[in-house]
Amino acid sequence: MKAAVVGTDGKLKVADVPTPEAAPGGVVVEVAYCGICGSDVHMLDAGMMPEGSVPGHELSGRIVSVGQGVEGWREGDPVVVLPLDPCFSCEPCRHGAVSLCQEGVLRAYGLGKLPGGFAQYMAARPSMLFRLPNNLDLMTAALNEPWAVAVHGVNLSGFRIGAHAAVMGAGPIGLLTVSALRGAGAAGVYVSEPDAFRAEKARALGVEAVLDPSVEDLGSVVSARTGRLPDYVFDCAGTPSSMQEASNIAGWRGRVVLIGVPMGNATVFPLSCFLKETEFRFSFGYNYREFGDCLDLLARGAVRPEVVVSDVVPLREIADAFEALHRTGHTKILIDCHGV
Ligand SMILES: [Zn+2]
Ligand SMILES: [Zn+2]
Repeated sequence: MKAAVVGTDGKLKVADVPTPEAAPGGVVVEVAYCGICGSDVHMLDAGMMPEGSVPGHELSGRIVSVGQGVEGWREGDPVVVLPLDPCFSCEPCRHGAVSLCQEGVLRAYGLGKLPGGFAQYMAARPSMLFRLPNNLDLMTAALNEPWAVAVHGVNLSGFRIGAHAAVMGAGPIGLLTVSALRGAGAAGVYVSEPDAFRAEKARALGVEAVLDPSVEDLGSVVSARTGRLPDYVFDCAGTPSSMQEASNIAGWRGRVVLIGVPMGNATVFPLSCFLKETEFRFSFGYNYREFGDCLDLLARGAVRPEVVVSDVVPLREIADAFEALHRTGHTKILIDCHGV
């Protein structure tokens, strides 16, 4: 089969690799679509993806073979794949916090260890499979993983119905966070985004305001419109300075949820946070149940895929798609893995 493999130069190349077979207790999924995550781009750029690994952790597809002893799944079943085979026995797993699984590094798919979804086929375990609702298409379903990331961030914030929220960054996670906030009953959502293409996407979601942070201050805009600084700020930018910017924007005892995280150090001036008792909350992944619930929300139209997805490209063009994400004009790029 064809798969996108990390080469000796640290870049992706489409190569012929052995097609996986269903091991006892496992299945093989024919990948339909797999989205490029910002973390894929950053990890590849930072040389964090080992040579020979197959990335990709945002995928949908159909089961093509079922290993011995697997019950409840058949060939042809449409699924999204949780990119992690949780151990279900460590303390975080027992609380449903599967992204925090203590064996997560060894059990993650498409993050350097086990082969991921930028391939025609991918081996998976039944614990990773979530069946598509009848009225959900495979392309929209490929958004479930980043959608669950956004929903988890909003859930972790303890968002109060009727509150106003500020969202920094209108990349895929920022846009999905806007939709999650709408679902959580936000009275107003205000977005900062320096990139004009992405700002337009946020406007298409009908938010209260979208501004360029190099020109206007998000906190001032929210406070001019609502009479106060926002109680909730979602940092979906994940730059070295965004943690500080988020705390500047938040009101007293405001909650800053960090969904995007920089790969290096961040700069924060603690006194400014101290004087407002800013609460920081890091949000990583999702709970097991949230991942399943998010599929139903997708089927109910909670997300606008035509806004979030900017391009769908065949697997053979994946290297160009990764390059394109370093330039303006893109949000979520989905890799079409059955067109090869
Ligand atoms: Zn991701
Ligand atoms: Zn675990």
